[in-house]
Amino acid sequence: MRRWRGLLLASALLLCASPLHAQAPLKLVASFSILGDFVKNVGGNRVEVTTLVGPDGDVHVYTPTPADVRKIADAKLLVVNGFGLEGWLPRLLEAAGGKASIVTATSGIAPLKLGSDADPHAWQSVADAEKYVLNIRDALAAADPPDAEAFRQNAQSYLAKLEALDGEVRQAVDRIPPSRRKMISTHDAFGYFAARYGIEFIAPIGVSTEAEASARDIAKIIAQVKAEHIPAVFLERISDPRLMRRISAETGARIGGTLYSDSLSDEKGDAPTYIDMVRHNITTLTSALAN
Ligand code: ZN
Repeated sequence: MRRWRGLLLASALLLCASPLHAQAPLKLVASFSILGDFVKNVGGNRVEVTTLVGPDGDVHVYTPTPADVRKIADAKLLVVNGFGLEGWLPRLLEAAGGKASIVTATSGIAPLKLGSDADPHAWQSVADAEKYVLNIRDALAAADPPDAEAFRQNAQSYLAKLEALDGEVRQAVDRIPPSRRKMISTHDAFGYFAARYGIEFIAPIGVSTEAEASARDIAKIIAQVKAEHIPAVFLERISDPRLMRRISAETGARIGGTLYSDSLSDEKGDAPTYIDMVRHNITTLTSALAN
């Protein structure tokens, strides 16, 4: 009996002292690729991140798989955007048994509204993306206190890069003549971008790609593009290009290129990280609008 107790005590001590135990990375799930990139930047090598909706996926219309249920059941934290972006989440959580804590990355951001709907695309303003990073930093530190200092340092250096990126976007927009600071693309994904950087933005369909534009909406947009001399329409990586091509054909506004709205690209694409995505978008915008 005494021997058993001794063994138990020894193994308990071993467990506490074992560096292997302390070094197991924190398992996290992010709902879509852009959030996954923020989490990797803050978590560094102390976390293991999986994303549900990967590169080039459309988070609005996603259908979760049985593999997603297992990912969530294994994770300590689930990072979501909120503002109604992940409409499929409640059913997925129910199926997974709901043990992971949920971090809402838009916490503390005032939502833009379109009618009664919150616009979920806050990441398109780099200033709001900085708030996402702070929320993620705090959630990671709370879930894994021994690594809190590492998360704080990672977040600080990433935030410095985002701060510089925000300045880059401002300078790029400054090069566009004020009368040409107008853009149109398929769904309402650039409201926060437009509000932050002083661009007029219109879209035929609402804040979700799930909606479809009515004939009346399209006629109204065509009239608006003509009346306001909007110089270019932009395609979206995740959306069907036909609507924009039709508006371009009927108004004479040129196709200005393809923007990344709600996802990153894969490693070989134009936008494998959030910073690459914003740079790709501003290069595309300025080359179409600046002259
Ligand atoms: Zn969207």
